[in-house]
Amino acid sequence: MELQFIGTGSIVSDRLSSSALVDEAILIDTPNGSMKAMRRYGLKPEAVDVCLITHFHADHFFDIVFLFLEQGLLRQRGTDLVLIGPLGFEERVQRLFELAYPGSWEHIRPRTRPSFVEIGDNGGEWEGLAGGRHYQVKARPVQHTVPTLGYRVTDDRGTTLGCTGDTAYCPAVEELASTSSTLIADTTFPTEAKAGHMSLREVEALAGRHPDLHILSTHISDDVPAPTRPNVAFPADGQRFTLDSHTLTAHDPRASDGADADAGKPLTKNLSHWRFS
Ligand SMILES: [Zn+2]
Ligand SMILES: [Zn+2]
Repeated sequence: MELQFIGTGSIVSDRLSSSALVDEAILIDTPNGSMKAMRRYGLKPEAVDVCLITHFHADHFFDIVFLFLEQGLLRQRGTDLVLIGPLGFEERVQRLFELAYPGSWEHIRPRTRPSFVEIGDNGGEWEGLAGGRHYQVKARPVQHTVPTLGYRVTDDRGTTLGCTGDTAYCPAVEELASTSSTLIADTTFPTEAKAGHMSLREVEALAGRHPDLHILSTHISDDVPAPTRPNVAFPADGQRFTLDSHTLTAHDPRASDGADADAGKPLTKNLSHWRFS
């Protein structure tokens, strides 16, 4: 499984807003600026087949309009675009289009073939194809200030990637940590957990309880210090990782196509120890 971070920051941060792409076909969140960032990194927004939205805050959702435009302005999809998110997803997309480009939804909708999967309090599952490969997606509610989903993506080789979404520490985070080999975790604050987010202190405690789990922090604020646990790392915006069920390999953030090495906060530690084998 190839994982590329598009953004890794909280709202008030030099880092881009938090989103990530799996195997160039499954996009996790569409925050402000994420479509332009994908293009900068040499990624193709039109190649996304499945989009997982954790919640509808703007720093996770507001580029959804541009995902649709990237997919439908110049071309017509041949397969459905699967959109998984909390209840009310489809209605929110319609409302955003009405605000942003009145009258355009009726034109874009048939060209992009959206298939909405709305998930409520009991969580849910989806399985199907993305980029020609088979995946299972499991969604679980987490604890944020609005309805929010954490996700676990499993590929056809059994590699499991978890993503907490924005959340306070809660049982669903523990479950994701127990069932994933790599976990993308909300690390918004240094020590104090507030406003439905986790702190580095909680993320490092989680890492201590799950020593075989690789944790990649995201939604990082600029005042969060470097992690000290060997199995916690701060990815750079645009950084790419290769995962399988046991190993996580970090690629040099400077090697990302088109990425400006100084665009994100520089990595504060050497990631060479992230090659486990
Ligand atoms: Zn949020
Ligand atoms: Zn957020």
